[in-house]
Amino acid sequence: MHEYSIAYDLYATARTAALEHHATQVKKISVEVGKMAMVNPEQVAFLFDTIRSDDPLFKKAVLDCVEADPQTTCTCGYSGTEVYVCPDCGALPTLVRGREIVVTNVEIEVED
Ligand SMILES: [Zn+2]
Repeated sequence: MHEYSIAYDLYATARTAALEHHATQVKKISVEVGKMAMVNPEQVAFLFDTIRSDDPLFKKAVLDCVEADPQTTCTCGYSGTEVYVCPDCGALPTLVRGREIVVTNVEIEVED
C-alpha cells in the first residue's frame, strides 16, 4: 500500500532525527505533502497512528500534514502553479515540484 510505506518512511525519518538528538519523546512531526503526490494525508496520518502506537518514543506524537502547492514552468517562460494547461500558451507545463513528501520539522522532548 502506497500510503503505508509513506507513513512508515515518515516514522523512520522522525525516529532517526529523534535518536540523533537524544529525545525522550517525539511531540510533533511536520510534513509537507505536495498536491501532486496523489496521497491522502488523512490516510497517512491514520496509518502513522497505527505504526507509532508500538513505539513508546512516539506516545504523544502528532503528525501535522500541510499540503503544498505545485510549481510548474513552461517552455514559453511561464512559471507558476498551473499543472495541466499553461495559461500563456496552452502547452503542458513541466512539474518542478509538487510530488514530494518531506518532513520539514520534528519537535522533540529531551531530558534535562
Ligand atoms: Zn507556456
